[in-house]
Amino acid sequence: MKIAEIFYSIQGEGLLAGVPSVFVRTSGCNLRCVWCDTPYTSWQPEGESQATNHIAAAVTAFGASHVVVTGGEPMLAPEIGELTEILRDAGMHITIETAGTIYVPVACDLMSISPKLANSTPWHREDGRSASQHERLRYQPDVLRHLMSQYPYQLKFVVAQPEDLAEIEAIRADVMAPAAGIILMPEGTRQDEIQKRGLWLAEICKRNGYRYSPRLHIDLWGDKRGV
Ligand code: SF4
Repeated sequence: MKIAEIFYSIQGEGLLAGVPSVFVRTSGCNLRCVWCDTPYTSWQPEGESQATNHIAAAVTAFGASHVVVTGGEPMLAPEIGELTEILRDAGMHITIETAGTIYVPVACDLMSISPKLANSTPWHREDGRSASQHERLRYQPDVLRHLMSQYPYQLKFVVAQPEDLAEIEAIRADVMAPAAGIILMPEGTRQDEIQKRGLWLAEICKRNGYRYSPRLHIDLWGDKRGV
């Protein structure tokens, strides 16, 4: 499978924020978010093809207990099931970070599903085909429900403006997710913009009983690869 990078860091987002974790970042994505923070896996995918046993050996060499398989869109990779089975056999806790548009059976302890809202559609880009494909694919409620029924999950939304809440509420009702399963995270790759959005987003979380997610890796290291 095509791999952009493998590195050891701390999980910066969601329920397991703060947990030391090895990240396997696959390259290739079926979406084209306008604010994608890993364009080297989507708009201009980079990386080399690596065998699953080679990837697993690189992961276990760090000696960590947690692994995060992320992307890009890791569920696109035909070998994703095989890789996660090897990692499970190695005794690792596995998080998969996905946009929730594709279902394939995998070994997974936390399905971190991040459905993409209308704020992600790249309308302003000249390549109109990317915007229309993104808009057609970004919300797949049947896939979301299936993932939620098969794995422990979190629904993590990237929020750009207060108006996004109405769309989140509609999705939540559509897939019948409890408030406890919802995590809201401010969009942004700069500490100042995350803090600015975070202040009003925290109030939304308080009002609705949703969890607020930091972006700890940005706080600590800024917007860099490999952290
Ligand atoms: S789904 Fe993730 S990797 Fe794909 S374009 Fe959106 S932010 Fe980037």
